[in-house]
Amino acid sequence: MSAKVVIVGAGPAGANAALALARSGIASVLLDDNPHAGGQIFRPREGGRLPLLGADTRGETLRQGLRHHASLIDHRSGHEVIAVYPGPRLWVAAPDGAYELTPEHLVLATGAVEVTVPVPGWTLPGVYTLGGLQILAKSSAIVPAGKVVLAGTGPLLYLVAAQLVSAGVAVTDVVDAAGFPTAGQLAGMARVPALLLRGIGFELTLRRHGVAIHRRSAVVEVVGDGAVREVVVAPVGDDWAPLPGPRTRLAAGVVGLSFGLRANTELTQLAGCDHAHDPVRGGWRVRREADYATSVAKVYAIGDGAGIGGVDTALAEGTILGHGLTRRLGATAAILDAEATEAQRQISSLTLFRRALHDWSGLRPGIFSIADSRTMVCRCEDVTAGDIDAALDRGLALPRGLKLGTRAGMGLCQGRTCGPAVQERIARHSGVAVPELPMPTVRVPLRPVTAAMLASLAPKLPGE
Ligand SMILES: Cc1cc2nc3c(=O)[nH]c(=O)nc-3n(C[C@H](O)[C@H](O)[C@H](O)COP(=O)(O)OP(=O)(O)OC[C@H]3O[C@@H](n4cnc5c(N)ncnc54)[C@H](O)[C@@H]3O)c2cc1C
Repeated sequence: MSAKVVIVGAGPAGANAALALARSGIASVLLDDNPHAGGQIFRPREGGRLPLLGADTRGETLRQGLRHHASLIDHRSGHEVIAVYPGPRLWVAAPDGAYELTPEHLVLATGAVEVTVPVPGWTLPGVYTLGGLQILAKSSAIVPAGKVVLAGTGPLLYLVAAQLVSAGVAVTDVVDAAGFPTAGQLAGMARVPALLLRGIGFELTLRRHGVAIHRRSAVVEVVGDGAVREVVVAPVGDDWAPLPGPRTRLAAGVVGLSFGLRANTELTQLAGCDHAHDPVRGGWRVRREADYATSVAKVYAIGDGAGIGGVDTALAEGTILGHGLTRRLGATAAILDAEATEAQRQISSLTLFRRALHDWSGLRPGIFSIADSRTMVCRCEDVTAGDIDAALDRGLALPRGLKLGTRAGMGLCQGRTCGPAVQERIARHSGVAVPELPMPTVRVPLRPVTAAMLASLAPKLPGE
């Protein structure tokens, strides 16, 4: 099936790009594995009603726009891209079977994934990622009962803590590996005053509810027998490695734990695009030109999937992509140059904000030293930190060799969870910094699919 423009990801970036194109009369197919458009941030409520702090009406506006332009935007929810081959050719798994698309132009807007850091006890029932807790609260109005400790770093930590505590959850402690932002970092974040004020608002909410904030600290162990009972907290140094000295024990029934976001590069990797390591934008990210073209002809990348920038950057990149692609296709852009220029101006301020945010709370490698030899790193394949270290001692020094030798990253999640931890362990063992290591590889199909689906696609394998 051919479609001129296919966009993968109906979050703020992809949906806004589809709308920008539709306003110029250009049709697109918009694929997303979620049941609704809106991506991570604009999740509609599916069950119950829980008034959550920071509710944003822009998601509903985007969804209304998609409905309004339904004759030009073919939005297919529950459709997951499981492979990209040169061409580009996409394999899509849908509820009623699999199919292939061969677009002229492919826009990848696949968003972010959370960075998880393995610590002893993190596989106990009752330990969630911060995003996981937020998704349960946002989509299904499910919130934890009993005492909750949230740990990690970055804006999501304070946002989820403020959202849960305002919804009546007993969040007792927030454990942040970063310190209090410096005057310089605050000045950088003040480049986007609304975002800085939002962050200050979360902090004030936590103080008002008596939540204790432990800065420059990390959870070094989750303790329990079949369920979380308490966490052990230690101070951390400049690189966030735990410091020796007394530990604090905090009672908890539920723990939220994650350390910021990284770009979901699965599809840009499968498409064969060049990538580079950029710590400010969340680590590995696709290389792009000014018009968001990647190194592969007619493949573009926007939003958090092309480097963490946040929702406002994602929306602005959608507008700019729509404007640029309209012109490439020889149509008259309904989006005025002035509108694209304004989006570009917003991105400039947001870039300065992002730099300051990274300076304050960007992931530091010492945090990965918390895992001891028995800590599970790859949860899908049951590979411990000790198994990885033993393989490294045997000489399996590169990500690919280590994967083949230990199966870390070969399971259901395909390394989405353990990837950064495995890379940091290789870096520490080899003395080669992560940006100098080869990027972890990605294999098709990206997600488990039925044999029947694969069989229906197999005749379409490139070269057959
Ligand atoms: C767990 C989590 C919680 C967050 N919470 C907040 C928050 O509360 N506030 C905030 O400001 N920011 C939050 N963020 C960051 C925010 O989501 C992003 O900045 C913003 O949504 C980026 O928009 P996007 O369009 O680039 O990506 P997204 O909104 O992530 O949209 C990408 C879409 O692509 C889909 N997709 C990915 N791969 C495929 C595939 N192979 N096939 C089909 N579809 C695919 C995804 O399911 C998703 O719907 C959160 C991020 C995460 C990961």
